[in-house]
Amino acid sequence: MCINKTMILCYNIYNMVINMDNLYIKELNKFDCNITNKIHDFGRDNNVPIIMDDGLSLLLSIVSIVRPKRILEIGTAIGFSSIMMALNSNATIDTIEKKNDMYTKAIDNINKVGLTDRIRVHLGDGENVSLDELEKEYDIIFIDAAKAQYRKYFERYESLLSKNGVIISDNILFHGYVEKYKFNIESDASKDLKALARKINNYNEWLKSNPNYNTIFLNIGDGIAISTKRSLNE
Ligand code: MG
Repeated sequence: MCINKTMILCYNIYNMVINMDNLYIKELNKFDCNITNKIHDFGRDNNVPIIMDDGLSLLLSIVSIVRPKRILEIGTAIGFSSIMMALNSNATIDTIEKKNDMYTKAIDNINKVGLTDRIRVHLGDGENVSLDELEKEYDIIFIDAAKAQYRKYFERYESLLSKNGVIISDNILFHGYVEKYKFNIESDASKDLKALARKINNYNEWLKSNPNYNTIFLNIGDGIAISTKRSLNE
């Protein structure tokens, strides 16, 4: 009994420290912008799959290092990540969204932030949007749409990646279900969810063995993979 109480106390303190730490970092990274904070909160309150906060911090770190001229995003949702990338760079952004309601909301949000001259939203499926609508080259390609189609997106758009460009894939852990699938750990996943986890795992393993790219897989946000072209003389 005594040991259990001590263990519970330790566990609570551990959680408090972890949370304090997170809150501290969150506070430092907080954006002092009412409009973007409202867009963020709308997403969270309405189950829109916007990028997780620490995933966003990583994404914006990459943006600030790469200093992209052009960014391509597959999966706009309500435009939150596009807006944040635009506010943290001088890039112009093409972003693709297939759902009408999301597309309309994204356009509205981009208007509110005054970024219509730098963010173009394309209504359509990332698998078949006409390449004529897009630029010839992008420094960052951010894949964040239908999780089962990531390899198709990667193969479709990699020819548009600049020499030193970066392809970023979001949600490669998919709330822990991919790891559970891989290691055969019991979970509450439905048959469909298990099938999706299998597809995401296939994508991750394909990325890992892709001879043309170096990929780093990170346990940040919902899991993020960062792929860069191997240099020709490597
Ligand atoms: Mg995502």
